[in-house]
Order: sequence, then structure tokens, then C-alpha cells
Amino acid sequence: MTALLRTAVSPRLPRPLPGMPGKSKHTRLALEQETLDPSNWHEFRAQGHRMLDDMLDYIEHVRKRPVWQPIPREVRHAFREALPRQPGDMAAAHEQFMRQVLPYAAGNVHPGFMGWVHGGGTPVGMLAEMLAGGLNANLGGRDQMPLEVERQVVQWVRELFGFPEAASGLFVTGSSMANLIALLVARTAALGAQVRHKGLAECSKRLVAYTSAGAHGCIPQAMNVSGLGTDALRMIAVNERHQMDIDALERAIETDRRAGLTPFFIAATAGTVDVGAIDELAAIAECARREGLWFHVDGAFGALAMLSPELAPLLAGIELADSIAMDFHKWGQVPYDAGFVLVRDSAIQLETFGSTAAYLRRDARGLAAGSPWPGDMGPDLSRGFRALKTWFTLKVHGADRLGAMISRTCALARRMQERIEAEPALELLAPVALNIVCFRYRAAGVAGVTADRINADIVADLHESGICAPSTTSVKGKLAIRAAIVNHRTSAKEIDALIAATLALGAASEKKRRGPG
Ligand SMILES: *Cc1c(COP(=O)(O)O)cnc(C)c1O
Repeated sequence: MTALLRTAVSPRLPRPLPGMPGKSKHTRLALEQETLDPSNWHEFRAQGHRMLDDMLDYIEHVRKRPVWQPIPREVRHAFREALPRQPGDMAAAHEQFMRQVLPYAAGNVHPGFMGWVHGGGTPVGMLAEMLAGGLNANLGGRDQMPLEVERQVVQWVRELFGFPEAASGLFVTGSSMANLIALLVARTAALGAQVRHKGLAECSKRLVAYTSAGAHGCIPQAMNVSGLGTDALRMIAVNERHQMDIDALERAIETDRRAGLTPFFIAATAGTVDVGAIDELAAIAECARREGLWFHVDGAFGALAMLSPELAPLLAGIELADSIAMDFHKWGQVPYDAGFVLVRDSAIQLETFGSTAAYLRRDARGLAAGSPWPGDMGPDLSRGFRALKTWFTLKVHGADRLGAMISRTCALARRMQERIEAEPALELLAPVALNIVCFRYRAAGVAGVTADRINADIVADLHESGICAPSTTSVKGKLAIRAAIVNHRTSAKEIDALIAATLALGAASEKKRRGPG
């Protein structure tokens, strides 16, 4: 067959189809128009190598830079321009990037970055992104090897969490999307696939979901987007270790049942965003099983603690989850974005999102084979090749080394805790369960200025100093300086610098407020 085709099809340009205009000079010019590929590959290649070198230099020498610096008004202003109509020079655009964009990024590549929960990325991940960009693969479906790369990573994730072969996994933007997808799959499990057509208005059951007061804001957001509404989400109180209070959870389920509502979904958290607490997953799994509820774990950053033999026992019970949301772009150090959702029963996920559109018709052979496609497992159709940078990261660094690095960030958090407890001017505000430390400067609270204000100012001053970048949160009504140690480059040096700078800024602030004398 193939040989037959080879002789039948000319390797040269396709012949014009009947009815198409002949070879007037005009159409020849239009048809032979240049592509967007470089006209001089030699020059382009040299420019490409310069860009590669610049980014490798940036990562290699990032420690010599400030973590972050304010964007000067002139830079922000000078960047604005009208839509460029004419071709520009690649070297000039690169130069503008180096001058106006690169120096004013958020700084999460830097070891002094400890704000929010940001991954540090790696040179390996960066190069893998370049390969993925060159291939320009669309992982919505079709029979292509890039999808086998994703399926391989899915298999590794199943292994990591002890999930069965029938479990499905899907790369998504981040855990916000992963949590939403899990909630929608659970909604199908509770209401049946007809909810796709009939919507919630036609449904007599009133679904209710449960999470803890420490849950990430994307859980209420998922309730909003799914149409269930945030009023149908119970924010269960937490205990002194910031874990979901399981007695309170059971009482809430009972109260809702008595009121004629239908409890259906519990979102536990493995690594809360504010303090890094891990809910008692095994006990919540047991409660969900007894009550017949879907057991979901938001493990956005914490789930990858499974890579560390020392930390994995803290997540006992995660293997019982019906679904898990997690991010490779946080503790996994894969460059943004690389979120992931794992669902125990792929059939329900397919029921939730599977497509029957004519233009997505599947076949047993040819490029349209290999069904089901990832586009059947979530709302996205076109999808980038996030799996490749994750595959490279795991292949090159290995799961054990990533696990050891995750473990080290927790050891650094304990060191920071010790330093805080040894300083009378500092106060630890929450127990350190993993890699997140919440503390504050004990400000005397000079008239008219609250301790919250003083600590918020310390954090803004730290950012502007370029030394380190923690963020803030609120713990039991107090504003906390929050350090989330996620970056593999962070060392004891940065921890000590944060403590020293906080003490110096706090003392300076008090001195200033007391005034001279
Ligand atoms: C970061 C985080 C999220 C949100 O994940 P994104 O990847 O930013 O969408 C959700 N839950 C927790 C616990 C997180 O730490």
C-alpha cells in the first residue's frame, strides 16, 4: 500500500486542483509567499544560542541579583506601544526582554524567594520547554508519541499514590483547575451523567460539599464555577494543628442530612496554603466511606511529599482518595505550568467530559486512533506538552533526589522555627508541619500603629530590600510573616538572612515610631 502511494504521489508540489486558477504571475507570487520561518537560518541559529546563553546565565548567577525589585515607572511606561504592524528584529526584541522584562520578574527562581507557594524551576525543565515548543504538539488527542509521554507520567503518578490501572490522570494548568475537574467528576458520580444535559435546576437533590477553614480559595471557586454555589460548601473548623476537625465534619454531615440535603464531596487538604497543615487523611477517608461521600485531596504542593520516604507517612490515607489535585510546578520544580488531576475511576471522568462532536470523530487506525483522548477527560481541547518537562525532570533528577530536596525544605523550615523560638523579639504563630513557617515581629504596638501594620511594613521592606521575599497571611486574626520554602536553591544562608533582616527592620521601625529620645 505504502509503495503504491509513493509512486502515485509526486514528491513535488501538489498539482493545482481543477477549477483553481492557472499559473498567472499573480497567483504564483501569492502561493509562493515566504513563511514565518527565518530567511537566514544561520543568523537565526546564532541569535538562538545567544538567547539560550542569556537564560542559562540568568539561572546560574541569579544569587547575585535582588530577589525582586520594584518596576520603575519609566520601564512600565516605555514598554507600552501600539500593535507592531511591520516585522521587527529578533535581536532587538530579545534585548528589550533582557532590559525591561527579565530584571523585574517575581523572582521565584531566586533562593531568597519564600512567598506564596512558588516553585523554583530548573534548567532541565527550561530546556524541555524549548523542545516542547519546537515540536508544537497539541495534546488534546490523536495517535502521537507525545501522548505516550503523558501516559507514562500518569503511570508514574498512579504508582506514587498506589492508584489502580483504571485511574486516569491529566495535566492541567494548576491545582485550581484540578480541584474543579475533581468536583465536576464527583458531581457526575452523585447525580449521574444526565446533569450534563439537564443542569442542576432539573435536579431534586441539593448537593453539599465539605472542606476545612484552611482550604485554598480555589475550592469555593470550584463550587462557584460548577454551579453548586459557595453556600453549599461547609467550611469545617480546624483543630489546634490546623487540621479539619473530624467531629465537626461528622456533625455537619448529619445536620445537612436531617435538613434534607445531599452531602456528596469532602475536599481534604494535604499541605494547607496558609500554614502547611495536613488533614488526617485516613480518618477523613473512613468518614467518607461510611457516609458514601466522594473523598478528594487537594495536595497542590503537599502531595509530592510522597516522594520523600521520611515525609510520605504524614500523607497516610491519600491512597484511598477518589481524586487528587496536585502541582508539579511547586515542590516538583517543573517550570510553570504543570498542574495534575488524578481520578480513581476513569469511567466517571469520561462520563463527565467525553466528547461526541463530529469533528472529533475517532478511528481504529490513522492519526484519529488512540481514543479516549485527554480532551475527553476535562474541559480543555487544545493542550500543550506539559508532560515533557515533567518527564525530563523525573528522568534527569530522579524521584529520590526530588524527594530528598523536598525533605530538605522541611528541614530548613525547622531550622527557621528554632531560630524564631530563640529570638525573644520573634513569635512563632503556627506549628511547622512541613515547609511553611508563620511568625511575626513582637512589636510593642506604639500608639496608633498596630503590630499587624508593623509586620506588613516589614514584609514590604524585605521585598524592596531584594534580600528575600516572604509573603503574609492571617493566623488566628494576627497578620503573620509567612515563609514557604519551596525552592530547591534555598539554603540556611537565606533563612538566616530573613531572620536577621526581620530583626533589623523591626527594631528600626520601633525606634522610628518612638521618635528621637
Ligand atoms: C497553590 C495551591 C492551590 C492552587 O494551585 P494553582 O496551581 O495555583 O492553581 C490550591 N490549593 C493549595 C493547597 C495550594 O497550595
